[in-house]
This record gives sequence, C-alpha cells and structure tokens, in this order.
Amino acid sequence: MIRNPIPWPNGARCAVAITFDMDADSLIHIARPEDGFDRLYPVSMGRYGPTVAIPRILATYRRLGIRQSFFIPGWCLETYPGAVEAILSDGHEIGHHGWIHEDPVTTRGPSQAEAFEKALDAHRRICGALPRGYRAPVYNVTQQVIDLMVRHGLRYDSSLMADDIPYRLTTAEGALWEMPVHWGTDDWPPFAHYDEIGYMMPVRGPSAGLAGFWEEFEAQYEAGGFFMPILHPFLTGRLARWRLVERWLEEIMASRKVWVARLEDIADHLDALSAQGHDIRTERLPYYRGPQT
Ligand SMILES: [Zn+2]
Repeated sequence: MIRNPIPWPNGARCAVAITFDMDADSLIHIARPEDGFDRLYPVSMGRYGPTVAIPRILATYRRLGIRQSFFIPGWCLETYPGAVEAILSDGHEIGHHGWIHEDPVTTRGPSQAEAFEKALDAHRRICGALPRGYRAPVYNVTQQVIDLMVRHGLRYDSSLMADDIPYRLTTAEGALWEMPVHWGTDDWPPFAHYDEIGYMMPVRGPSAGLAGFWEEFEAQYEAGGFFMPILHPFLTGRLARWRLVERWLEEIMASRKVWVARLEDIADHLDALSAQGHDIRTERLPYYRGPQT
C-alpha cells in the first residue's frame, strides 16, 4: 500500500509522533489585534493549554517513558515560560511555529522574515537552542518560509501533505525533511469551535472525534508507515479526550511494534538511512514560479 516504506529502528512497524501545537491564546491576539486582549473567553480557552493541559500531557509521557515534539509560537515561549521549561526539562522537543501564529500567506515579504527571525531569537533566549523543525500556522507555509528554514539550518518542516510518510524537500539552496500532516489527523475538525476566528464546527464527543485518528493509525500500521496526530493542548488536552489518547497510547505501546519518537529523532533516522543510500522520495521546490493561468 505504501510504495517505498521507511525501515524503522528495531524492527518497528510504524513510527508514531504525537505532536502538539501549543498556540495558547496567540490565536485571538492575531485574529483580533485591537481587542483580543479583552476577549476573556477565548483568552481563557487558550490559556487552558499551557496551564492545565500541558502538565497533564507531560505526566502521561513521563509515566510511559516517551519524549515527543511540541510546536510553540515565539510569543507563547515568552508568555508561558513555565510550560516551556517543563516541556524541555522532560526531554521533549520544541519546534518553530511562527512568532504570534501569523499566517505566512498573509504576511509575505519583509514582515514574514522579521517574524520568523524574531521567533528564532525567542528560541535561542528561552529554550537555549535553535529549533530543529518548523510547522506553519494553519499549515500555510510559503516558498519564502521554506527558504528561511534552509538558510537558518532547520532540519525539517511539518506543514505539507504530498505523501503518507516522511519525504525529502529540495530547493536550490538546500534540503529539508518533510514530516507530512493532513486534516484527517488534526484535532481542529472534530473538536474546535471558535467563532472569533471563523471556525464553526459541531464539537464531536471524545470517542467519535478520535475514532478517525485510530483508523488512520491502523492503516499506517498495516502499511509500515508513519502516524502523526496534530493536536492542540486546549483541544485534545481536555480531560475526557486526553483520557482516551492516554489509554490508546498505553495499549499500542504494550501490544504493537511502534517507534514512539520525537520528530527530530525521526529526522536523525532519515539522515542515517539517506547516508546508507536508502531511497527516500524527493519533492523539488518551488512547485511553481508564478501564477498558472
Ligand atoms: Zn498553531
């Protein structure tokens, strides 16, 4: 079913990376710059992530002995240093997720480079290291951001959708690994309801909302693939939803051959496979140099 599966370490059949984008309340400030600060309901909905959900998620990971990847806007690194410290001290990875969740498609040009580099600076100051990976806010990566990643030595992107399993992106200036996303493993469609940013979906019950994720996992497991949910602490970190994810993790770690890894570990593995001459599919960028009419 997958033409060229990636051999995973220790005979694992599937790589699993539970990724969390800790957007917190950046979403309301960028969506409503004039008065977002005084819209207390969405601010509180976002704050639930770093203050209530992150400690809960980290406790699960500690108990299961796993390390995972988080993507956090630079503004959130500055605003929630306690959550950042807790994530890093448990050995998890924090990737670049913009400055204040600005959409790269609407901030092309000098302001995009400025925001990208401002976030890098926050990583350097607060995390003590540059990020290895990047995920675009709302997946809206542009060629300019790809070029910024290559220029600043990032190793992977996780915003694009051209394959089921990780693949290589090449540009004239360098290369990145792509850890592909898709909407079927994103928790916004089943769980987000956010009128202020124009996202009105009927909220599904925890097991109904997560059922599609588990079907995605089973297909990837059967094909020897890669399963990467894209979750948000303020959505899937809520009590009843996380309880189900935690149980699922316990179950697959006990009964399946999975490699539960940080995305930077997967990038290391891809580097090693590539050095051994393993054929990994490549997509060349840019796709287009101008409008196609
Ligand atoms: Zn985000």
